Amino acid sequence: MIKRRSIRTRLTLWYTGLLTLTLLLLGSVTYGLMVNSLSRDIDTALEKIAGVLSQQARREAEAFFPSAIDDIFRRFFGASPFDRYFEMRDHRGHRDPRMQRRSTPSLPLSPEARANAERGLPTWETVDGLGDYPVRLFTRPVLQAGRLVNLIQVGFSLQSFRETRRHFLRILAFMFPIALLLAGGGGWLLAHRALAPVAQMSQAAQRISAARLNERLDESGTGDELDQLAHTLNAMLSRLDDAFRQIRQFSADASHELQTPLTILKGELEVALRTPRSADAYQQTMRSALEEIDRIAALVDGLMLLARADAGVLRMDQQPVKLHQIVQEVYDQARILATRKHIELQLDAKEPIVVQGDPERLRRLVLNLTNNAIKYTPSDGRVTLSLKPCRERVVLRVADTGIGLSPEEQERVFQRFYRSDNARLHDAEGSGLGLCIARSIAEAHGGRIELDSAPGVGSTFTVWLPLPSHLDHLDPQR
Ligand code: ADP
Repeated sequence: MIKRRSIRTRLTLWYTGLLTLTLLLLGSVTYGLMVNSLSRDIDTALEKIAGVLSQQARREAEAFFPSAIDDIFRRFFGASPFDRYFEMRDHRGHRDPRMQRRSTPSLPLSPEARANAERGLPTWETVDGLGDYPVRLFTRPVLQAGRLVNLIQVGFSLQSFRETRRHFLRILAFMFPIALLLAGGGGWLLAHRALAPVAQMSQAAQRISAARLNERLDESGTGDELDQLAHTLNAMLSRLDDAFRQIRQFSADASHELQTPLTILKGELEVALRTPRSADAYQQTMRSALEEIDRIAALVDGLMLLARADAGVLRMDQQPVKLHQIVQEVYDQARILATRKHIELQLDAKEPIVVQGDPERLRRLVLNLTNNAIKYTPSDGRVTLSLKPCRERVVLRVADTGIGLSPEEQERVFQRFYRSDNARLHDAEGSGLGLCIARSIAEAHGGRIELDSAPGVGSTFTVWLPLPSHLDHLDPQR
C-alpha cells in the first residue's frame, strides 16, 4: 500500500518537475525573443524617422522644424507624440538655431555619439533622466559632400516597451502556477488511473493462499504491460498449483504405501503377543516382521532418493565405473530368481564398458529394471540383458517377453507410485517407485530411459548413458 502511494507521488513529482523545467525554459525563451524583437522594432523605427528628417533638414535650410514630426512618429510607432524626442544640432554639436523657436526638451549628446558622428557613424543609446522612463536615443549624422553638417537625434520613451515587458512577465507569473497546478492534479489522477490495476492485482494476490491456488488474477486482455504482468503471475500460479498438487499427491501416496506394511507389521506382532507361543513360532513372526521392516526401509530409502533428486541435491559419486561388471553381477544375482520362476535369463555384454558415475546408483538402476523384467514375466518367458557401446553412448537394454504395457500405461509407468492393474495381479509387493528411481539415476548421469512395449508381447527398457570421451571404454583396467 505504502509502495503504491509512493510510486504515485513519485510519478506526479517527476511529471510536475519536468513540466516546471519545460515551462521555465519556454517562458525564458519567449520572453527573450519578445524583448529582442521589441527593441529591434524601436531601433528600426528610430532609424527610419531619422532618415526622413535628414531629408527634410537638407531641403529646409532656413527655419527647420518639421511640422509633421508627430505624424512621422505616429507613422512608425503608432504611439503618443508625447513619448517622442527630437533634436537637431550643427556640425559642432550645438543646438541648431533653426530649433530655437521650438521649446522641446534638449537631448543629451554623449561624447561617444559625437565621435561616431564625426566619423559618419550613427549611435544607439538608452539614456535616463528625460522623464519617468529611459529613452532610446538614435543619433544620425547628416553629411553633405562627405562633410558633417548636422546631427539629427530622435528618441522614443521606453515606457510602452517596459510596460509590455512587465505585462508579459505578469501573465507568465500568473499562468505558471495555474499550469503547474493543473498539470500536478492531472498527473496525480493519471498516476491513480494507471496504477489502479496494480492495486487490484495486489488485493487479488493477497487473497490467494496455498489453499486457494486455483484462483487467478483478472486479465484485461488489452495486452499492455499490466495485462502481461497479470498473465505472467497467472502462469506462475498455475505452475505453483501443479507443484502443490503433486506434493499433496506424493505425500498421500507415500503415507498410503507406508501404512500397508506398518499395518501388517502391527497385526503380526499383536497376534504373536495374544497367546504364548513356541520359540519357533516367535522366530517365524520376527522373520516376517523383519521382511516388512525391510520393505519400509526400502520405501523410505527410495522416497529420500527421489526427494533429493527433486531438490537437485542428489549426491552422485563421479568415478569410473565398470558397467559390464555391474551388469554381470546383477545377472548372477537375478539368475537365482529367474531359475525359480522358470525364466530363461540371457546376458549379452561381451565388451568391457566404463562410464563415469556412481557405482551403487548404477547397480540399483540395472537391478530395478532386471527385477521388474523377471517380476512381470510369466514362467517359461525370457529376459535378456545387453550392454553395448553405440557411438559416444552406452546402451543398456533389458528386454522381456512378459505381460507388456498398453500405450496409456506406458505413459504413466515412470510416475511415482504408479502400478498397472495387471502388475498388481502379478506381484502384490511392488511399490511403484522402482522405475521412477531408475529414471532419476539415469538422468543424474546425463542419460535417459526409453520404453518399448506391447501388452502380452513383452517390454524393452533401453537406458542411454553418455560415454566419457576421456575414458577409453575398451580399457577397463584404467
Ligand atoms: P513396481 O515394480 O514396484 O510396481 P516400478 O516403478 O518398478 O514399480 O514399476 C511401475 C509399474 O510399471 C509396474 O507396476 C508395472 O505396472 C510397470 N512395469 C515395470 N516394468 C515392467 C515390465 N518389465 N513389464 C511390464 N510392466 C512393467
